[in-house]
Amino acid sequence: MIDKQKNYEKIKEFALNAGANLFGVADISGNRVEFDDEISGIASKMPFAVAIAVKLSRSVLATVNDRPTKIYKTHYKSANTRLDSLAFSVGREIELLGYNALPIPASYITDWQKQKAHAGHKNIAELAGIGWRGRNNLVVSPEYGPLIRLVSVLTDMPLKTDKPLTFSCGGCFECVDCCPAGAIKERVEDFDHIACFEMLRRFMKDKNFGQYICGICITKCPLSDGRDKKS
Ligand code: SF4
Ligand code: SF4
Repeated sequence: MIDKQKNYEKIKEFALNAGANLFGVADISGNRVEFDDEISGIASKMPFAVAIAVKLSRSVLATVNDRPTKIYKTHYKSANTRLDSLAFSVGREIELLGYNALPIPASYITDWQKQKAHAGHKNIAELAGIGWRGRNNLVVSPEYGPLIRLVSVLTDMPLKTDKPLTFSCGGCFECVDCCPAGAIKERVEDFDHIACFEMLRRFMKDKNFGQYICGICITKCPLSDGRDKKS
C-alpha cells in the first residue's frame, strides 16, 4: 500500500535538511493551477505540488525604505538561486525514489505584462498551506509574514496534502498606505496589479537599477518581524 504520509515526511525532511524554511504539499488536481503551455502537458500528469519557502533576511529588507536597495537586489537574486537549487535537489530526490518530478523555476517570468510564469508559486503555496494571500498580494506566512520567497516542484509521487490556511490579514491595514503606487486596497481582490507592475518598472529603470523588485510592503508588514526558528 502506498503510504502518502511516509512519502510526505521523507520529502519534507529532505527539503528542510537542504535549507528550506517552510514546506507544504498542494493538491493541484482538477485545474487548480494554471500552467504555461510549455509545461501544461507534463504538468497535467502530476497531481501534487511541493511548495518550499526560504526566509529572506530581515536586516537586508530593513534597508528598504522608499525604494529597493542594491543589497536587497543581490539578496533577492541569492534567494532565487537557493530556491532553484532546492527545487532541483527535491526533484532529483523524488526521481531517485522512482517517481516523476518537475521543478518550476523560482523567478522566470514568461510574460512580464501579464505577470505569468511557468506556474504560480503563490497559488501553489496558498493551496499547500504555506500562507494566505495578503492585502499586498504576497503570500503571508504565519511564521515570517511576507518575508519569504517561494518555489514549487510538481510530482506524481503520492503525497499527503496540506490544506489552505483559514487565516487572513484580518483587521491589519498597515501596508495599505505604504505603497507608493496605491496598489494595495482594503480588499485583497481589489489589488491593482498594473499599478504595482508600473512602479516596479519605474524602480527597474531608475539609475539603471535593472531589477523588477520593490520590497516596501514586505518591510512594512508587522508579521515580517517574526523571530527565526529552526524547524
Ligand atoms: S511591491 Fe511595492 S508597488 Fe507593489 S504593492 Fe508592494 S509596495 Fe506597492
Ligand atoms: S501589513 Fe497587514 S494587511 Fe499588509 S500583508 Fe501584512 S498582515 Fe496583511
